[in-house]
Amino acid sequence: MQVLVTGGVGYIGSHTVVSLLEAGHSVIVVDNLVNSKIETLDKIKQITNKDIIFYQVDVTDESAVENIFTNHSIDGIIHFAGLKAVSESVERPLTYYYNNLVSTLVLVKVCQKYNVNRFVFSSSATVYGDNKVPFVESMNLFPTTNPYGETKAISERILIDITKANPAFSLAILRYFNPVGAHESGLIGEAPNGIPNNLMPYVTQVAKGKLNKLRVFGNDYPTTDGTGVRDFIHVTDLAEGHVAALDYLTAGTHIYNLGTGEGTSVLELIHAFEVANEIKVPYEIVERRPGDIASCYADTTKAKQELGWVAKRDIIEMCRDAWRFEKNYKE
Ligand code: NAD
Ligand code: UDP
Repeated sequence: MQVLVTGGVGYIGSHTVVSLLEAGHSVIVVDNLVNSKIETLDKIKQITNKDIIFYQVDVTDESAVENIFTNHSIDGIIHFAGLKAVSESVERPLTYYYNNLVSTLVLVKVCQKYNVNRFVFSSSATVYGDNKVPFVESMNLFPTTNPYGETKAISERILIDITKANPAFSLAILRYFNPVGAHESGLIGEAPNGIPNNLMPYVTQVAKGKLNKLRVFGNDYPTTDGTGVRDFIHVTDLAEGHVAALDYLTAGTHIYNLGTGEGTSVLELIHAFEVANEIKVPYEIVERRPGDIASCYADTTKAKQELGWVAKRDIIEMCRDAWRFEKNYKE
């Protein structure tokens, strides 16, 4: 297939481009580089030895997107492009709603015009809100607590309605749990701008000595050791889940959790990182972070049954690969 990947220079997108190329697909990447670096494309070429067509385009720009559709015959889209920082979305809701919703609307509109009927959308476990774990795709969704989460919940509803009205349209909504780790080559990985918000990049930067100490947000949650529990998934497993979804897609809406199905606490993750890499991660326990839930992990039955996909890489591999990338990474 010829696959258009929006946000393909970003963290999850770049790993998915590698998996797509390795599976024999050809790839067109569209990214405005608002949160990524062009050098990543060279790294992808180094890993795969394959070429990629790249457009530096903002996906909210309808005529620029349409131009891509007129230049190429596209079989399917994977739509990663979006802004993803929860706290920033609270400060800049308009930016988040505009970017994340308009990009999706533009893409679907152009897809309909050019009869492109395979669409894979990056959603998030955040749409489950504070539901009972494990989260199952059929659950009623709880309201999310921030504009970023709302953009995912609203995008899901928009895409589902559009799919209902167009019997030829095939939609996969993939709800990611907590993607971590990096490509085993150490060439591509997660490189957030500024001080990281997420746990794993914070841990790797403490290990590197760039940051002093990890702050563990709360140890009084109703979990095994009191710290938050998350379903960390290796980004390469996640990438492979996209290839499986794209290959499987049939008409209608298909929603899948992409997680491992296993919960790991913050303290367990720190410990796994120390064991995997033989390096200490100094930390202190501080207050809970507002908006966090105690536990979040997936029921992965549906993806396994329908896509034949399961996450294969364990927490030690996630920690090892995350650290290999951080060690090599130069700003
Ligand atoms: P990322 O920021 O690394 O990648 C997103 C890419 O999209 C970046 O390269 C950015 O430059 C690009 N982009 C943003 N807005 C754009 C626009 N209007 N036009 C063109 N390009 C644009 O983020 P990621 O972690 O790879 O996330 C990819 C997708 O998965 C996002 O939609 C995100 O919300 C979703 N998601 C991420 C996580 C996570 O923890 N990383 C969890 C759940 C869902
Ligand atoms: N966390 C932490 N310290 C940090 C960052 C995160 O203790 O510096 C905790 C956070 O409270 C949550 C877990 O790690 O329990 C995962 O947080 P992250 O921001 O990585 O992902 P989220 O699940 O919130 O999307």
